[in-house]
Amino acid sequence: MADSKQQNEARRILQEYIKLRSLRNTPERKAVLEAIFAVPGPFTVDIIKEYLDTVYPVSRATVYNNLELFFQAGIIVKRTMGSKGQEFEVCVMTLTHHNLCCTNCQQMFEFKDASIMRFFEEKKYKKFKMTNCAVMIYGICSKCQARIAREKRKQVKLEEKKLLLAYKKETEQKRKAEQRKAELKRIADPKQQQDKSIKKITE
Ligand SMILES: [Zn+2]
Repeated sequence: MADSKQQNEARRILQEYIKLRSLRNTPERKAVLEAIFAVPGPFTVDIIKEYLDTVYPVSRATVYNNLELFFQAGIIVKRTMGSKGQEFEVCVMTLTHHNLCCTNCQQMFEFKDASIMRFFEEKKYKKFKMTNCAVMIYGICSKCQARIAREKRKQVKLEEKKLLLAYKKETEQKRKAEQRKAELKRIADPKQQQDKSIKKITE
């Protein structure tokens, strides 16, 4: 649940924004604004629509249009989540909030780092004034790292087992071939045969 300070600030920003543009603050708009603070974490149009269906039903277009307006007013940030569509997140008084996205399991993790905002503030963007920034860092989460390492170890063990089996098979084949060779040599060597018979006689 978002803190009321953040919610009050968002209400103030919206009031100011719609006043400047001579828009009306309709009950639907108010409901969508309250909804973005009622649902946890990043949200989509559908999540807000689903939530409002239980408390103040409005059309999907109303949700979409208002989220666009909140984005323009600087209340929320939006990002494209590939096949998952668009995702929004409240950014009022959260200038230090950034995200880590695991490319393996698609999970998102929030982290705070005030130095990132300062880093971008020091930069000058041509014909552009930065009002907010949200950094998305892509990588692999610790759970996925552990799973990948486990799978790798399993693969290595399997390879080792295969190599050992192949080595054993080869050694056995070599031993049998040597045995056969020796047998053939013994049969083909008449001297050896003779020696044997002499040996037998003298025994
Ligand atoms: Zn992951």
